[in-house]
Amino acid sequence: MKKNYIAANWKMNLTRSKAVELAKDIREAVKDGKNKYMIAPSFTLIQDVAEVLKGSNILLGAQNMCAEEQGAFTGEVSPLQLLDLGVQVVILGHSERRHIFKETNELINSKVKMALAHKIEVILCVGELLEEREAGKAVAVCEEQIRKGLDGVSEKDMENITIAYEPVWAIGTGKTASPEDADEIHAEIRRVLKDMYGEEIAKNTYIQYGGSMKPTNAEALLAKENIDGGLIGGAGLKAETFAPICKF
Ligand code: PEP
Repeated sequence: MKKNYIAANWKMNLTRSKAVELAKDIREAVKDGKNKYMIAPSFTLIQDVAEVLKGSNILLGAQNMCAEEQGAFTGEVSPLQLLDLGVQVVILGHSERRHIFKETNELINSKVKMALAHKIEVILCVGELLEEREAGKAVAVCEEQIRKGLDGVSEKDMENITIAYEPVWAIGTGKTASPEDADEIHAEIRRVLKDMYGEEIAKNTYIQYGGSMKPTNAEALLAKENIDGGLIGGAGLKAETFAPICKF
């Protein structure tokens, strides 16, 4: 049976000493865990957190990445710089990047291909706004984000792709999609992957749910057939709330 893939997105939180403390607590709490785990700290925390995670069962992630390798891109961080710190996974297309920083599907696709070219695993986030859901467009929005985000990605490279379904109205709001609603969209996402890459790849690709996942709702979400893990914001900022989710 597929493991769950449980990932913490720490967003723009913590300073180095707090991040090290939290990474140590999580490392200890999940050391015997059987699932796949990842932590994505802010860029400035990665080096310290990398030291803590070395030799552990937790992958080191980043929350974003430039679509270029190097050069005149003020304020950006390149895949080469991430690799230099030991980063193994990058979150791309997070709704905060799409909606606050206006990242387009085309830019996200360039980043996806750049990460894969450097053998960095990708978590590609997709998800609809509340008004899109209310207009019955949730599936169409996710489908477009997946098709455009994965444009030009080979079958071989799909080994290094995880999709995170994150309904934007559920992120950081305390509102969670019901397990049934989330599973329905996950099934649609798998349908799109099957159409693009065939049944085997669609079956093997991790599809995480993200949006106010916490210890009290994680078990029911993760029990659903098409939900293979979680991308976790708020509950990833405390070992007491992250570790219980890692056990399911
Ligand atoms: C996220 O930002 O990826 C997320 C799911 O946040 P939260 O768990 O806080 O809703």
